[in-house]
Amino acid sequence: MPELPEVETVRLGISPHLVNLLDQKLLEVSRRGKYLLFRFKNLTLLWHLGMSGSMRVLLTPVPEKKHDHVDLVFGSGAVLRFNDPRRFGVLLATFDDPLTHVLLKNLGPEPLGPELNAAYLKAKASKRTVAIKNFIMNANIVVGVGNIYATEALYEAGIYPEKAAGKVTLKQFEVLTAAIKRILTQAIATGGTSLRDFVKADGKPGYFRQELKAYGRDGLPCGRCGVVMLHMTIGGRATVYCPKCQKR
Ligand SMILES: [Zn+2]
Repeated sequence: MPELPEVETVRLGISPHLVNLLDQKLLEVSRRGKYLLFRFKNLTLLWHLGMSGSMRVLLTPVPEKKHDHVDLVFGSGAVLRFNDPRRFGVLLATFDDPLTHVLLKNLGPEPLGPELNAAYLKAKASKRTVAIKNFIMNANIVVGVGNIYATEALYEAGIYPEKAAGKVTLKQFEVLTAAIKRILTQAIATGGTSLRDFVKADGKPGYFRQELKAYGRDGLPCGRCGVVMLHMTIGGRATVYCPKCQKR
């Protein structure tokens, strides 16, 4: 599933091709959580890539391929083409403030902004017994921390993934918050991690897979202490952790 860094990579890739190309009718491509927001003068398109969706900007005509489901055709001749093999993507238009839309209004803060900080998470986690991993993956708490990034951030912060959120200390939330921001920033810089066949927004295939220190490394030695990393399942999602470095 595309994670926040992939969506941000799409936004960065398509914006220069589209914004101001079109008699300035498309004002901006922004993002809230994993939704891309195409802001026009009188309406906003909300676009979610689903499980496997990808976007390409075509500056010359290209025949449609299988699973090409949507073309946005611009006055310049540019086409934004949406390919979605598994059809879990979402495209809808709203004439109201998109941030008040039912899909967006309950989302937690963006992870890279100042609204995500240790004090915020500590307050939200108060008395909660939910596993810290599920807590930070909850989009109503904070958006954009998917399974891979949650696994990596908890490893970096030395927190046991099943620890009750309410038992995580402010100091631990400070380290965790910094880890989340660092990992997502790095992932955006490298173009995301999760899809092996991810097509970059400018249509060029391939990208450098980010180095992962925990995710997918069960059975391998921890890079910090050398102890064998273990696998467990939390909330139905694969988790890898170091039994020595990640304190209960
Ligand atoms: Zn370790």
